[in-house]
Amino acid sequence: MADSEEPFRRGMVIMAHPDDAEWSCSGTVAKWCAEGWEVVYILCTDGSKGSSDPEMTSEKLVKIREQEQRNAGKILGLKDIVFLGYPDAYLEPTLELRKDIAREIRRYKPDVVICGTASRQLHSNYLGHPDHFASGEAAMAAVFPTARDRLTFPELLDEGLDPHNVREVWVAGGGDGSDQFVDVAEYMDTAVKALKAHVSQVDQENAGEWFRQGRIRTGEKVGMAYAEGFKRIRLG
Ligand SMILES: [Zn+2]
Repeated sequence: MADSEEPFRRGMVIMAHPDDAEWSCSGTVAKWCAEGWEVVYILCTDGSKGSSDPEMTSEKLVKIREQEQRNAGKILGLKDIVFLGYPDAYLEPTLELRKDIAREIRRYKPDVVICGTASRQLHSNYLGHPDHFASGEAAMAAVFPTARDRLTFPELLDEGLDPHNVREVWVAGGGDGSDQFVDVAEYMDTAVKALKAHVSQVDQENAGEWFRQGRIRTGEKVGMAYAEGFKRIRLG
């Protein structure tokens, strides 16, 4: 880590869809994995709506996207991927989703959680998918206070899952609110390869360039060739 001596070694990325994590933070994840961190993805939805092909069915698509995500995970060196399986495009920040995420936080005990922003950013031309905001809200609520508090969802204790305190949350997609920047120059090739593993979702010709341009623009703010930016929240 750039500005901390904390010996963090476990990361978790919580996103709505297969491919969200690759678009958001795969340079950072590649770096963490290369440095020996154990990194786990939690994907809230099954990705079952992400196709405009009239021949495609949701059933087929779920299997394709799960395999694509596993392929991306192998490229990055993830420890594990958890598919919570909520229906794509209908995600809400419910208590059920919050509990399901808290369960995985207690199981894998991450030091740092990366998630998406819970609110729309109206300074860009990108409306954003409602599942992204729902997963961001549910992830933050699961970190604090649900994963921490033993009397919330006591059934998790019955499953043998004790409370866990996440140390930091890094919120991706916060735009100008970002205050934590990761130099990902060394990891761009791996990150792009992982992104392109989502063959059904990603434009194989242009996605790599779009991805690189985004990291260049972020890096320009902080004097890095390629950077990923986050809003960093330190928890007690
Ligand atoms: Zn998405």
